[in-house]
Amino acid sequence: MPTESHMIAAALSKVCQDISHSEARHSRTAGSVHLIAVSKTKSVEQIVVAIDTGQRDFGENYIDEALEKIAKLGHYNCCWHFIGDIQSNKTRHVAAHFDWAHCIGRQKIAQRLSQQRPPHLPPLNICIQVNIDEEASKSGVLASEAPALAGKIAKLPNLCLRGLMAIPSPSDHFDSQRKPFTRMHTLLKSMQYTHPSMDTLSMGMSADLEAAIAEGTTMVRIGTAIFSARSTK
Ligand SMILES: *Cc1c(COP(=O)(O)O)cnc(C)c1O
Repeated sequence: MPTESHMIAAALSKVCQDISHSEARHSRTAGSVHLIAVSKTKSVEQIVVAIDTGQRDFGENYIDEALEKIAKLGHYNCCWHFIGDIQSNKTRHVAAHFDWAHCIGRQKIAQRLSQQRPPHLPPLNICIQVNIDEEASKSGVLASEAPALAGKIAKLPNLCLRGLMAIPSPSDHFDSQRKPFTRMHTLLKSMQYTHPSMDTLSMGMSADLEAAIAEGTTMVRIGTAIFSARSTK
């Protein structure tokens, strides 16, 4: 029986290979797609297995759980991405302990993050979450609202506006998976004229990784394909 550590290491290496193959297949520059290992609900020990294989970027959704892990893994020099909704009363923790916040949909949250970013840290990297399929259940701004929010975030001194993030509605078909990602790519390109710091598309998860790579993603957020299924929380 392979141990759980072996399984995580093998799965991570397979995901990295899948990313390289998709880059090649869709004429993307090798190494242009960055992997965030989504470690929500997973243990410090499981994260250390991924760190030992060279992975350094991790995504977390639940702040209390994340703070505990970041404290225990502080000496590894990881890059921490907050990929959940941020309540106003949690902004201080995200500002103090994370390198990126991917799900920004409100000016008020951005303002608090900027105010609360400790002065010794570089600006917090920000992606605006776009509700690309206009689903009632999803957070984020409509595509048409993204430019106005970007204008406001760009003025905040302790944030760096890096790009756009989306979670499209699930689909099993490659061609339908590509459509919302194409719209995201077009939106990013239209905003880069005004905001040259926007170099990031945070899109693509375990089930739609290749479609996201085909459509220009620069950061994929992968949990299940690395750490196996999560028990429901
Ligand atoms: C959980 C989560 C992921 C990872 O999803 P998988 O399907 O497990 O790869 C990616 N992005 C966000 C925002 C998530 O909440």
